[in-house]
Amino acid sequence: MPISESYRSSLYPRLSRIASHFGTPFHIYDEAGIKNTCLELKNAFSEIDEFKEFFAVKALPNPEILKIMWDQGFGFDCSSITELVLSREIGARGEDIMFTSNNTSAEEFQAAEAEGGSILNLDDISLLEKVPHLPERISFRYNPGDRRSGNSIIGNPLEAKYGVSHEQIFDAYRLAKNRGVSRFGIHTMLASNELNHEYMVQTADMLLDIVEKLEAELDIRFEFVNIGGGLGIPYRPEDSPFNLEAMAKGITLLFQRFKEKNGYMPALYMESGRYMTGPHGVLVVRAINRKAIYRTYIGVDACMTSLMRPGMYDAYHHIEVHGERNSNKIEVVDVVGSLCENNDKFAVQRELPVIEDGDLLIIQDTGAHGHSMGFNYNGKLRPKELLFRENGKVELIRRAETAEDYFRTLDFDKNVLSI
Ligand SMILES: *Cc1c(COP(=O)(O)O)cnc(C)c1O
Repeated sequence: MPISESYRSSLYPRLSRIASHFGTPFHIYDEAGIKNTCLELKNAFSEIDEFKEFFAVKALPNPEILKIMWDQGFGFDCSSITELVLSREIGARGEDIMFTSNNTSAEEFQAAEAEGGSILNLDDISLLEKVPHLPERISFRYNPGDRRSGNSIIGNPLEAKYGVSHEQIFDAYRLAKNRGVSRFGIHTMLASNELNHEYMVQTADMLLDIVEKLEAELDIRFEFVNIGGGLGIPYRPEDSPFNLEAMAKGITLLFQRFKEKNGYMPALYMESGRYMTGPHGVLVVRAINRKAIYRTYIGVDACMTSLMRPGMYDAYHHIEVHGERNSNKIEVVDVVGSLCENNDKFAVQRELPVIEDGDLLIIQDTGAHGHSMGFNYNGKLRPKELLFRENGKVELIRRAETAEDYFRTLDFDKNVLSI
């Protein structure tokens, strides 16, 4: 989707200066836009007794961004030791952290339980035996199987590696109760980049339904229902935006009904990543080569290691060319990086204004699962990250990787096993 009017009007007039000061390529994020989305989310759920968003750290794991979320009263959803470290650096402790892992190692569980712990969100019934110290409060990730179909990124729940199956879910909570767990939550995550708000309402409905059944059968009470992340953003100009208000209305109604029937309302938790920051970031690159063979290629100074989604998921990211054009001429091009992989393309057969070497291109909606999915194939280095502050200042919030960073893992003590 074209970037928000407010971000466009603050960023575009200053983009040439920003690019020449910091150098391309870079992701640049909009502090005002992120804050605004945080407020919208909180307002949407204001009639829920207790609502809390645990920002999915993997979407944009930068301390300056996490601080914005923290100031809004949000917690963090973590799935690795380094994400725990990042969240704790910001000050998050205990119930501010949801540790949702899958295929979790003993080392990860230890980290999740250290330094004030976290809410453990268990992905399998077998983990009850493996968690070093089972805390008094846990949740399970529920996989409803063929009771629900997923969408393309998460896939069919029957084939998804996540969660406790419907057949196991009663035993899972029974076993947890028998082992001394006294506080319970439930979690699911069935969608990714889902633009239909009804899907999230149905997810909440499904969870409240299973909660009632579990409470009746096991004589336990659920403190929270975590509907996961997966709210979509309109990457394509023709996509309609996710209807947050309608989703919140539908879910609030379900929670109120649950309260009338059961005498209390569990807390509603969410772990959105993409929806919070996705639309508030862009990747700015410079065109460096133009090549006309069977197709016309515009080579830019970043590659798939800065933004993997197009290569990995065939994802669409809208692109704008910066500045006044000499003509209104449009041409069809592939916008490409420099990897030795033919899927290293930011756009395929896209209609764009005629691009010349030196032009700045703004690749949009890179604020989530953008820089964080970066990698180092072909020895390519990840770019810097900038934050466009509300006060109009532009701040470097992560430097670009250097060759020294890349070679650091080759600096180690000699270790040879003779067998
Ligand atoms: C990835 C992930 C999220 C965030 O997903 P978005 O699509 O960015 O909202 C939340 N929870 C879990 C468990 C995840 O794996």
